[in-house]
Amino acid sequence: MKKQIERLLATITADSADAIIWLDNADVIQSWNRGAEIIFGYAPAEIIGKRFEILVPDDLRVGGELERLKQELASCGFIRNYITQRVAKDGSVLIVELTRTQLRDEHGQAMGSSAILRDVTKRERAQAQIRELNRQLETQVAQRTHELSEANQQLRRRQRELEKANAELERLDELKSEFVSLVSHELRAPLSNISGSLQLLLDEDDANPLTPHQREMITLANDQTERLTRLVKGVLNIARIEAGNAALSFQAFDLCVLIQHLLEQWRACDLEHHWLGPTASNLPSVWGDRDRVEEVLTNLFDNAYKYSNPKSTISVELQVIEDQLVVSISDQGKGISKQELEKIFDKFYRVERSDARQTYGYGLGLYISLKLIQAMGGTLWAESRVGYGSTFYVSLPLAGQSHSPPVSSQISRSLSIAV
Ligand code: ADP
Repeated sequence: MKKQIERLLATITADSADAIIWLDNADVIQSWNRGAEIIFGYAPAEIIGKRFEILVPDDLRVGGELERLKQELASCGFIRNYITQRVAKDGSVLIVELTRTQLRDEHGQAMGSSAILRDVTKRERAQAQIRELNRQLETQVAQRTHELSEANQQLRRRQRELEKANAELERLDELKSEFVSLVSHELRAPLSNISGSLQLLLDEDDANPLTPHQREMITLANDQTERLTRLVKGVLNIARIEAGNAALSFQAFDLCVLIQHLLEQWRACDLEHHWLGPTASNLPSVWGDRDRVEEVLTNLFDNAYKYSNPKSTISVELQVIEDQLVVSISDQGKGISKQELEKIFDKFYRVERSDARQTYGYGLGLYISLKLIQAMGGTLWAESRVGYGSTFYVSLPLAGQSHSPPVSSQISRSLSIAV
């Protein structure tokens, strides 16, 4: 049995894939297995009897590696997993993992040492490659981090500049609003004095009757004063709205009654158009600032009157859509092209038409109206066809609802447009 185990061990040693070498006390190679032959390329006959240093590269031999290992072996009895280099028969340098063990006989006498060498060239080179890649990666990361931090600093600088510019703009805006409101206030008082005086002159005075020419001149001056008053009022309105200071006073009110009242006034002073009122009845109240809604509707009625021909019809309709009451004002005027439709709600925008000069206005009415209606949680929009007419819609939240901003697009989609 013992012999069998010894034979088995001898076979394992002889055929092992690792190089297993026995060296005598003078480091002369005494045995050379199959693994050593494959790793180093020497046949046993070529190398047995040679010194172990034949396998050590010149630089390591000169550096005294063998002596160091011999000392360590003598003091510890073994060297385990020592990574070093060895040379094969063809001169190629291999990376090996070396384990050496001091051998002693049963009387403790040194009988050389064993050396087991595993070829780890591929593994070590792959690891070296990984280390190199890691190093490159770390360099790149460091570089990118540096670049990012520089970009970040630049962004922060830009942000500071923008904040400064913004603060400056806000300051200018405040100055502008203050200036506009100051100028408008200063203009309103003298204007109302002029208007009052002109009105007095126009009133019949039997003692001092006006000549037709004087009456014509004073009427002209009165019209121009009214125009200027409207402009000042508009500019003042804008200054207030843009300063977030529209000062609305909300209440529930009957929009239908307000419209009927306005229509009566318009029918009385405009005998040229057919003014048709809403046909719907029993409509719920709306929530908003009644006076401001009146202002908006007056502006829309005025536009329908200004931009449509005499004898044509202007019709006003009311309709409940979802939680809004929608007023539509349709005229049979010239209409507005699609491109212009997008701009008419801009400040001071007027459509360029041959008769634009003759038609009074400053392009402020729709801008102010939109802002006011939006501030009341409603919206204002228009649909039009050139040559057929326009319809302007104003939606206002119904009273008694939770007053969230309306969805104008939905409302606009569900309406049937009579143009
Ligand atoms: P304006 O004082 O010029 O009437 P608005 O802001 O009320 O100012 O209107 C802006 C422009 O939109 C008008 O100048 C006009 O060109 C156009 N517009 C407004 N309402 C109508 C309408 N009903 N029909 C045709 N064009 C209109």
